[in-house]
Amino acid sequence: MRDPQELIDLLELPAGLIADALSAAGSFGLRVPRGYVARMTKGNPYDPLLLQVLPGAAELIDSPGYGHDPVGDLSAMPTNGLLHKYQGRALVITTGACAIHCRYCFRRHFPYSDAQASDSQWQGILDYLASDNSISEVILSGGDPLTLSDQRLERIYQTLATLPHLQRIRIHTRLPVVLPSRITDSLIELFAGNRFQSVMVIHANHAQEFDDTVGHSLAKLFGAGVTLLNQTVLLRGINDSADALAGLSETLFRHRVLPYYLHLLDKVQGGAHFDVNEAEARALTAQLRARLPGYLLPRLVREQAGAPYKLPVEY
Ligand SMILES: *Cc1c(COP(=O)(O)O)cnc(C)c1O
Ligand code: SF4
Repeated sequence: MRDPQELIDLLELPAGLIADALSAAGSFGLRVPRGYVARMTKGNPYDPLLLQVLPGAAELIDSPGYGHDPVGDLSAMPTNGLLHKYQGRALVITTGACAIHCRYCFRRHFPYSDAQASDSQWQGILDYLASDNSISEVILSGGDPLTLSDQRLERIYQTLATLPHLQRIRIHTRLPVVLPSRITDSLIELFAGNRFQSVMVIHANHAQEFDDTVGHSLAKLFGAGVTLLNQTVLLRGINDSADALAGLSETLFRHRVLPYYLHLLDKVQGGAHFDVNEAEARALTAQLRARLPGYLLPRLVREQAGAPYKLPVEY
């Protein structure tokens, strides 16, 4: 669904939301799969899924300290389409396309739009990976790598398989949650039938994002031997309570997904209204620690441009 009017009508929301939604959608459009909309509650303008996708007036406010490239990605690219910030792993921007447009996204201002990495870009990426055998893990990211076709993904796996020092492929994707029908049998065959260890980091922010279709897609991935992890962004008004975060961890584990990171918001222009400050985040995670087993506690981190890893926020 790309039309704010349609979303607002379908969910029986106040018509007054439309004008702001339309103006905020101008620079970063609404995009949300219908199956995800079906998990929202009608008549609730504060629904935690709706708030992740509905453009709003707060995005148009210019906030000091918020930028267009908050994590320094544009200066960490040794070759077009590849980010190498951390030892042993390199991240490939396979495409700019996503199945959902998250209003808090730190890439919302990125220049790569919906473009896929071109063949010549891939050549540069492969040359770089081949030249550095300290890299054992390739992270496919974007955008969302699972918006690529199976054929395209298969070619990527085949070419990466020619580099003997690579051991793991990790995919960062929201599709198992926002568009579970993407986890087709042929995609599962691809994951099950290659020499790499597979890791998938799904990006779920709230327990309400899970339904039977999501459960089914995660069960297929788990069955194919994919290690499932989750990364969450701490979002004001969406999951900034111990109940919401504990509920998310419990739900993840029911689907055999382990919580990995809980990220403080990257300070992207247009996203300031989602920010939860560090003191509050620490207090929340302290509450979580008191009520969950250690393996269900995500690591609270913050990304800082130039740092050698995601910085732990101690609590
Ligand atoms: C976040 C990120 C990673 C992954 O970091 P992990 O701590 O391994 O999850 C790798 N490369 C880049 C460029 C990143 O931004
Ligand atoms: S799926 Fe990820 S990259 Fe795409 S808009 Fe959402 S947060 Fe951004």
